[in-house]
Amino acid sequence: MLVLFDIDGTMLTTSRVGIKAMECAGREIFDGSFTVQDIEFAGRLDPMIIDDLLEPWGKRGCAEHRERFREGYGRHLELFVKEPGITRALPGVVELIDEVDRQQHGVLGLVTGNYPETGFTKISAAGIDPERFKINAWGSDSHSTPPTRNDLPGVAMSRYAEATGRVLQGSEVVIIGDTPHDVDCAMAHGCRCIATATGMYTRGVLDSTRADLVVDDLSDTAMLAEWIFAGAISRN
Ligand SMILES: [Mg+2]
Repeated sequence: MLVLFDIDGTMLTTSRVGIKAMECAGREIFDGSFTVQDIEFAGRLDPMIIDDLLEPWGKRGCAEHRERFREGYGRHLELFVKEPGITRALPGVVELIDEVDRQQHGVLGLVTGNYPETGFTKISAAGIDPERFKINAWGSDSHSTPPTRNDLPGVAMSRYAEATGRVLQGSEVVIIGDTPHDVDCAMAHGCRCIATATGMYTRGVLDSTRADLVVDDLSDTAMLAEWIFAGAISRN
């Protein structure tokens, strides 16, 4: 079973310093009037978010500006997430990761809108070893224009096949996320999906998605492990 975690709002919180780091990066490149207001962040890919932020400055789709922004964002994030009390793992996450790792057929991975370097920065700051995640698909891995999260489970499943020689069915993949975007990307590949109301979306909103299981948080390790490993349903 390949268990793919989203990062922000699912595995951890950074008390929104990721957004603050983006604002600092933009103000360095442009000026103090650069703002992140009115931009949707939750569940979206970082390259999409950065393009939206560059739009008012006439730089949407400009690879050079996107890379400069990415570098500045990573640099500010690195400082902010290490401030005491800012970054923390959400309830039950460490225990669930341990439990998946303990299972003979459990493989941990990530499906996230983050870039690799910022994703690893956040996970490390939450006190979790990022090396535990073996099969990862990042915000920069979409092959579509514009990029879409719906590509990412397929990327992760291809990487699993490359690493192990085994092709997974969608029903052998569980995606754990906190937004309707996470649910949609799971459904696009026939994966099973757990939606957790620990991010920006309420339980009510997540209940109205096609998520197979909706929880208030990930603290019920035994129930979640049972659902992941023994509750496999076939969705061919
Ligand atoms: Mg999230």
